[in-house]
This record gives sequence, structure tokens and C-alpha cells, in this order.
Amino acid sequence: MTVHDLKSAKSTAELAELSGLDGVPQWAGGDLRTRARHVASIAEQYAEQVDREARFPEEAMAAAKAQGLMGIMAPASLGGEGASTGDVVEICYILGQACASTAMIYAMHQVKAACVIRHLGDSAWHKAFVRRMVRDQLLLASSTTEGQAGGNVRSSAAPVVYKDGRITLDRDASVISYGEAADALVTTARRDAEAAGSDQVLLILDRADYTLTGTQGWDTLGMRGTDSVGFALKADADQTQIMPVAYEVIHSQSMVPAAHLFWSAAWAGVAAASVERARRFIRKAARSNGGQLPPAAAYLQRANASLRALRALIATTLDRYEAISGDAEALGALDFQTAISLLKVDASELAVSTVMSAMRACGLSGYRNDGDASQGRHLRDVLSSPIMINNDRILANLSASSLLAQTPASIRN
Ligand SMILES: Cc1cc2nc3c(=O)[nH]c(=O)nc-3n(C[C@H](O)[C@H](O)[C@H](O)COP(=O)(O)OP(=O)(O)OC[C@H]3O[C@@H](n4cnc5c(N)ncnc54)[C@H](O)[C@@H]3O)c2cc1C
Repeated sequence: MTVHDLKSAKSTAELAELSGLDGVPQWAGGDLRTRARHVASIAEQYAEQVDREARFPEEAMAAAKAQGLMGIMAPASLGGEGASTGDVVEICYILGQACASTAMIYAMHQVKAACVIRHLGDSAWHKAFVRRMVRDQLLLASSTTEGQAGGNVRSSAAPVVYKDGRITLDRDASVISYGEAADALVTTARRDAEAAGSDQVLLILDRADYTLTGTQGWDTLGMRGTDSVGFALKADADQTQIMPVAYEVIHSQSMVPAAHLFWSAAWAGVAAASVERARRFIRKAARSNGGQLPPAAAYLQRANASLRALRALIATTLDRYEAISGDAEALGALDFQTAISLLKVDASELAVSTVMSAMRACGLSGYRNDGDASQGRHLRDVLSSPIMINNDRILANLSASSLLAQTPASIRN
């Protein structure tokens, strides 16, 4: 199997065959975690090569498509499996243990899928798009970062330009992960040339609707396989492709919750894999020393503890989101918005400290780039987490709301 074979595969049948699966559809009725573990086993085989060559994880993403994992959140009426936010969280966690880039690509795709599925309303175009996403296992990329504005997702510079029922968009999309490999693009944009930067729409573009001209490469410390290149994006599409709901609503109800939950789960997966390496290392060291634990074993305990805290944080925030996901008012409440925003900040910091502790537990063997205890790739990958929408920006945005918060009356609520 070559990368070219995978790229030129047109159908899910071909993808299934190329990624080592026989026949289609493999996924009908299958358990989601089993399917995710199959993808993870393929992702793991290529993770080092993907990192070294900073290339898109073609084999793992072909396997994810072959397992029918791209459209799982769509309701059965649109061809999907009605998978929950929690199902996707678990898949991101499983993939994160194998290959951070694969997990993050899958997470970013599902963030966009969640936004489209939840807010399509009565739009026939968007319903048809979701059906196609499931049928053809489309991979969706995201463009929110624009020019030098960094992670200010709630402001856009380029406006949508309208003419005769068609729209055009000319955008300095300074980071689009897997832009070349994606089948469709979901982008924020200013509503029109007169609108304020914060008056945004979300626009779905099919691959035929846009061109991408590279403006910036992607030679980074970690998350190298996300291939998050910068592009000049030029789009020409039908006006109906604009989501029927204002981006402001999509942002608070779907984009932030899905992004923070799915990303955190992917980072937790990276952290879990790193802890597993440290555990094996300490076990081996103890065995070869007559059962005596090495002095650095205390760091394994720290890594275990912070991983436990990270998983608990994700689980409680997920439970809270799932409990109120049908209640627009509760989703918009200051308390929930603060909690879901802080999830990203806290999860990224816990993930980094978990991997750091795991590396300390392994000592030089963890610091080396070779050997089973090497922590280099995990550390480099997880260091992307505090800057992927910079924690400083999130904390600065929340500082006013922290003044309004009240002392919690009990531990649980
Ligand atoms: C792996 C990865 C994949 C990505 N994929 C995509 C993608 O597919 N599509 C996409 O659109 N974007 C993508 N991005 C970009 C991402 O969405 C953010 O735009 C980017 O991470 C912003 O990084 P920054 O540190 O330059 O942040 P900025 O927000 O520009 O911050 C720059 C600096 O200013 C500081 N700062 C900013 N605001 C404040 C403030 N209010 N108070 C105090 N300090 C502040 C920060 O601490 C930071 O040091 C990706 C990023 C990563 C890491």
C-alpha cells in the first residue's frame, strides 16, 4: 500500500481494502471502541514516521474512514449512528494513545461535524451535506485562525461577498490543519463587508468550492502530522452553504464544548500512553534490581495522579455538557461557559505535567529519542496543548467573569 494508493481511493470499499480491511461496510452495528482500537493499531504503526516526516497520517485516516468513524454523530435519519459526544471523547482518547496527530485530526473533524449536525435546522443543503459526509466518509478541516489574529476565534476579518445568490470569500487562512487532505472546509467569516468582526457566519465549503495556495509551512516541535499549513483561501460557493444559525450561537453551544472536550480527550490519550511507557520502564527496572523500585518511581505516582485528575475533569465536564446539551439557556449560562472554557486550560496543563512526570520517571531513557521508554514525541506533541487557542487568551477573556462568580455552596454543585 502506498500513500498514492490511499489518496486515489475513491470509495469506502477501496479505502477498506487498502487499509487492510476486507469488504464494506465494516462498521454496520459494530462497537465504536473496537473500531477505534483497530484504527489506533494502524495509527501506532506509522506514528513515528508521521512525526519524523511531518506528514498527514494517511494510513490511520484511511482506516478511520474504512471503519465508518467520520459521520457517527449524524442521526440515523441522515445515515449516521447518532453517536454521542461521549462516544467521540472515548475515540479521541483511544487514538491519542497511539498517535497524537491522528487523534487531533479526528478531534478537529468531529468538532466541525458537531457544529454542522447540531445547527443545520431546516436547511436542505446542510442535510444533504451531512448525508454525503456519512456516505463518502468526508474529512472536514477547520479555518478560524486568520492573518496575525491568532486564536481570536470570535472575530473575523474577511467578509462574505454576495452576488446573484452566490458568495465569495478571500481569506488569509494562516493555519489549516490537513488542509490539502480534507474533503471539505468549515470556516468562519465576517457576515458581510459592513458587519463588525464579531458578527460572523459559519460556511461549509466542498473541495470543489475553494482553492488553497500555500503561504506558510508547518515545521513544528510536535503535532507534526496535523500538517497545519497556512493558505490563501479563495472560495466561490452557493449562498445556501452558510449555516442557518449565527456563528455566535454555534460557538457557545457546540464549537467550544466539542473542541474542548475532544481536544482534551486526545491530549489525555497522549498522556496515558506516556504513563504506560513509564510504568513499563519502572517495572523492568524493579525486576532487574531484585524488586527494588528505582528512586524515580515517585514520578510515576505523580504521573498516575495527574492522569487520574485529567480523566476525572474531562468526565465531569462531559457529564455536565451531556446533561444540558438540549437546553440553550443552560448552555449559555456564565457558569457553564466558564467551566467549558477552563476545561481546555486545565486539561492542557494537566496533560503537560503528566507527560513531564512520566519523563522524569524514565530519566535518561525517557529523554532519549530511541528505546521503548522514550518520551520525546509525547512531550513535543502535548506541548501544543496550552497554545492551541492560547491558555493566556482564554484566561484573559475569563478574568471579568471570575469577579462575578460566587463561592460554591457545596462540593458537588
Ligand atoms: C496543532 C495545532 C493545530 C491547529 N489547527 C488549526 C486549524 O486547523 N485551523 C485553524 O484555524 N487554526 C488552527 N490552529 C491555530 C489555533 O487555532 C490558534 O490560532 C493558535 O494556536 C494561536 O496560537 P498563538 O499562541 O499564536 O495565540 P494567540 O492567541 O495569537 O496569542 C499569541 C500570544 O499572545 C498572548 N495573548 C493573546 N491574547 C492574549 C490576551 N488576551 N491576554 C494575554 N495574552 C494574550 C498569548 O499568550 C501568546 O503568547 C492550530 C494550532 C495548533 C497548535
